[in-house]
Amino acid sequence: MAARIEHLGVAVPSLEEGLKLYRDLLGFSQEFLEEVTTERVRVAGLAAGGMTIELLEPTAPDSPIASFLARRGPGLHHLAVEVEGLAALLPRLKEAGVKLLDEAPRPGARGTRVAFIHPKGALGVLIELVERPAG
Ligand code: ZN
Repeated sequence: MAARIEHLGVAVPSLEEGLKLYRDLLGFSQEFLEEVTTERVRVAGLAAGGMTIELLEPTAPDSPIASFLARRGPGLHHLAVEVEGLAALLPRLKEAGVKLLDEAPRPGARGTRVAFIHPKGALGVLIELVERPAG
């Protein structure tokens, strides 16, 4: 399978503000809205031509998105790449010297399993690896 962008994550102070721009003014259609409790974020997904734009709103001060917003302000947060066999890929990346934030897959939005590569191991971009649920 050729790699493809599964979604882009955009950090926003509020989903209301993000949806006003992306959905109401730019015309992306909203596909889902859910809370990912493990990440302490609410996520609004917008269809963007075979991929998704995920607007990420922090739900707690210790959310990774809250600290990103405090440090950098709203903006592009990460790029998510769809992969197969995530659990097997992670040790291969580590073996190749890629710095990982997650050494094992964890739950993401929409039933996916995800793991992040450290920006320092990925040419300055926070990359999320996403595996979709089987079936
Ligand atoms: Zn993501």
